[in-house]
Amino acid sequence: MVQLSPAFRGVVGQGRSIGWLHRAIGAGAIAHAYIFEGPAGVGKHTTAKAFVKAIMCKASGCGHCHDCIRIERGTHADAFQIVPDGVTLGIEQIREIQHQVMLKPVEGSRKFFILDEAESMTTQAANAFLKTLEEPPPGVTFILVTSNVHAMLPTILSRAQRLSFNPIPPADVSALLQQRFGVDRDQAELATRVGSGVVGKALALGRGEGMERRKEILALAADLPVLDSLDLMSSVEGIASGIKKPLAEAKAARKKETQDSRETAVSSSHASFIARTLEQRAKREFAQRERQQFEDVLSTFESWFRDIMVTAEGVPELVMNLDRSEEIRRRSEYLTSEQAVGCIEAVERARRMIRRNVNPQLALEAMLFDMQECDKCSV
Ligand SMILES: [Zn+2]
Repeated sequence: MVQLSPAFRGVVGQGRSIGWLHRAIGAGAIAHAYIFEGPAGVGKHTTAKAFVKAIMCKASGCGHCHDCIRIERGTHADAFQIVPDGVTLGIEQIREIQHQVMLKPVEGSRKFFILDEAESMTTQAANAFLKTLEEPPPGVTFILVTSNVHAMLPTILSRAQRLSFNPIPPADVSALLQQRFGVDRDQAELATRVGSGVVGKALALGRGEGMERRKEILALAADLPVLDSLDLMSSVEGIASGIKKPLAEAKAARKKETQDSRETAVSSSHASFIARTLEQRAKREFAQRERQQFEDVLSTFESWFRDIMVTAEGVPELVMNLDRSEEIRRRSEYLTSEQAVGCIEAVERARRMIRRNVNPQLALEAMLFDMQECDKCSV
């Protein structure tokens, strides 16, 4: 049997799906369409790219050759990564894909289309796409990635190989952080709890990323009762710019990085297709990253009040912020669990506001003022 492609080494805890794809590559039995289904953050998109690298790279997915790098970035002439342009993946996008599907591969004998959030296809788009799935041109493979497979047309599902990606048990995440990344035990446990099952997040936390912000947020949560409105508003300002500035820089860097897509394009329509997929992906990704980071801030506040609540209720073993348990215990002596619940409800309201596209900075500010109200009577 051929060796497992190094491309799959970056995927954690999905041994069954990876074994399956590995055998398909070994047998030269690549399907025309796959569905990668499972909860968000468990490695579906990462596996899709790894699979494409394992097949297209001459060193079966080395991770650092020209092919692998372009597949990773989405600039390869024969491997496309599509995201919905807006809320849904519409008929226009499917027509563009269908046009590209009919063209011969540029560099090899295969073409790959990774469609993220495939469940967001409109009915019209899904029906059009079905026609392509019914008569797929040779050498074309679609990978439909979804965290909500039930929202997809059964006729599409029945024409694709389905691979399930499972949530990863916290103990596995913690063990992985310790064994493979050399993170010490306490840090690994903390990252696993705070990362709540999302491997990428736990890994980032385990490496120390985001820990600074977490510290800053917890300090702010602890100081909340004594802050005046001006302090509070400037703290929110600081958090917001701490999120937005690095993202704006990353966005500019990405733009530069992806300009090499024009090198590999063989026609102007091919070039503009690649450019458009990159642009749509970047737009979506950065908007999601910004929202996600604001939601992480909310979750950190939530974890603080949740910890106070469980401590006040006499179950301190459920505390998430293990490194702050002493402070949490002290705080729980004069904040009742009803007040803590009031603060948690404020988080939930802010979360709903952000999901309804309210400016996240305003939502955060409103949440903190609400929390101060809940918190005040305790000081
Ligand atoms: Zn390679």
